Amino acid sequence: MSFDDTPLVSANLEELKAILSQEGYPAYRASQIFDWIHARGELDPERMTNLPEALRQTLKQSNALVPVQLGEVHTSADGTRKIEILLSDGLMVETVLIPDGKKLTQCISSQVGCSVGCDFCRSGKFGYVRNLDAAEIIGQVLVAKQAYFEDEQLTNVVFMGIGEPLHNYDNVVRTWRLLCDPSGLNLSSRKVTISTAGIVHGIEKLGLDLGGKAALAISLHAATEDTRQKLVTGLKASLADIIDALKRYPLPKRRRFTIEYVLVKGVNDSDEDARNLSKLLNPIPVKVNLLPLNPHDLSNMAPPDDARVEAFQRILVNKGISVFMRKRRGDDINAACGQLLGKPGK
Ligand code: SAH
Ligand code: SF4
Repeated sequence: MSFDDTPLVSANLEELKAILSQEGYPAYRASQIFDWIHARGELDPERMTNLPEALRQTLKQSNALVPVQLGEVHTSADGTRKIEILLSDGLMVETVLIPDGKKLTQCISSQVGCSVGCDFCRSGKFGYVRNLDAAEIIGQVLVAKQAYFEDEQLTNVVFMGIGEPLHNYDNVVRTWRLLCDPSGLNLSSRKVTISTAGIVHGIEKLGLDLGGKAALAISLHAATEDTRQKLVTGLKASLADIIDALKRYPLPKRRRFTIEYVLVKGVNDSDEDARNLSKLLNPIPVKVNLLPLNPHDLSNMAPPDDARVEAFQRILVNKGISVFMRKRRGDDINAACGQLLGKPGK
């Protein structure tokens, strides 16, 4: 590892110390740089005022700080901002800032495209292009600060943008650790959520590597194997395998999994589906996030009407399951769930 081959934004404190010691700098310089980048969000070495001039120049010349740039920012009437993130090879992904009272949630992307290709999701429509590296993933959080409103402070991060996070395991876990690092942004582990369509070996590995600390959301969308195959076409894992993996996950006490369920008219929205879902989820601690499908230009699927959504929700609640409906945010700028696309061909 050296200044020239390692983006410093994705190095953890220990790695940063090793890189700096190779250049003859003491460990506390690494702590200062880590603090500037992750705790204060300062990306310009010129403004890292407690560093010696020579080190600032080295940082500038190494050009190793953040490999992404802010592109266009589209602001919705409800304050949601969809932000283009320009990658150094000309590709682009998107990230979304979602304000909610004192909370500010950022939804980040982990891949360009997605190989899972769920039919209702815009992000997978061009297939998989490439993984983002950790510097590009954390880079989204660092550059998006330029689009904060006054006095906003990031409180939550969700890996719910473009891509399947557990298909890019190492880079996602590295970013998760950086976001929760007490010397850096110091987000609470329960507020940094990894969302997966159900990569069983990834869920298992996450349990081992992070001791169950990562907040986990599972995009289930179905209560029977047939329906699951219709909606999540690109994954082989059965619902039974996924539920087994969740049973084995070392979930800390009083925590629950989030189960995401996109309601699709005529496909997974019947009373029977709701009853099957409550049975399937019975053995694990969950809260269910119901998302009536956000329609978009690349899918023919539609959301159920409000009465159907309510009936579905009522059945789950009557079975003792906590359910929340995700508010549709940023609809007018295609920033709602499943509407992010990026420009893989550009
Ligand atoms: N690949 C991961 C994370 C990104 S998708 C996953 O699938 O979990 C984030 C969430 O948005 C998923 O639950 C996904 O199913 C949902 N989503 C995708 N398309 C949607 C749409 N058109 N309407 C509503 N939610 C959608
Ligand atoms: Fe990929 Fe998730 Fe979209 Fe499915 S919902 S295509 S897994 S990003």
